[in-house]
Amino acid sequence: MQRRLIEEAANVVIGHADELTALDQAIGDADHGLNMRRGAMAVLERLDELAVKPLPDALIAAGQTLVMKVGGASGPLYGTLLMTLGKSLPVSPSRDELAQALGAAVAAVKKIGRSDVGQKTMLDVLGPVHEELASDGPALLDRLRERSAAAADATIPMKAIKGRASFLGERSIGHMDPGARSSSLMIAAVCTVMEE
Ligand code: ADP
Ligand code: MG
Repeated sequence: MQRRLIEEAANVVIGHADELTALDQAIGDADHGLNMRRGAMAVLERLDELAVKPLPDALIAAGQTLVMKVGGASGPLYGTLLMTLGKSLPVSPSRDELAQALGAAVAAVKKIGRSDVGQKTMLDVLGPVHEELASDGPALLDRLRERSAAAADATIPMKAIKGRASFLGERSIGHMDPGARSSSLMIAAVCTVMEE
């Protein structure tokens, strides 16, 4: 399961690298897909090692790999997300524990990004996904998938306040945020593996 989670999260990024780069071309510097693909390949190179580590250790190691290998804002941000998740999770977490850990991880991203939900970034997917994970009820995986896709779409009419896209001001309106899209892709991949 852990092996499949790592594989699918990495593969979905690699498979959508061109799309992510095209989104970043519209409102950034056209490297988000390249950055994310480089990180995903570096994680896949360590797949055998990461697959057998306890979940928290695997997340910390994957996060460190992203920080080291990914240029651009997204490397340290996703790296911090995964490292904080790893530090906050027990070996075999309940949904509640997952929600708490994701809350801590989202807070850590906000802190190092000096950013918040509503500024047209990956946080506009990660925040709503945390909210959904924290709310009890049936069909959790379906809800997470739908919420993350809708949240990525909802970045289209937003004006960017953080990151390179903010340099465009009003002209950032009308395009999906690349980091919001990569977040929703990885969340969908995780949901798919959890259903297997
Ligand atoms: P760079 O912006 O350095 O070229 P990438 O293109 O890889 O890095 O990643 C851009 C994405 O990173 C944006 O689409 C956005 O989602 C996210 N991002 C950028 N700055 C921040 C920030 N301060 N807080 C949260 N997310 C951010
Ligand atoms: Mg970029």
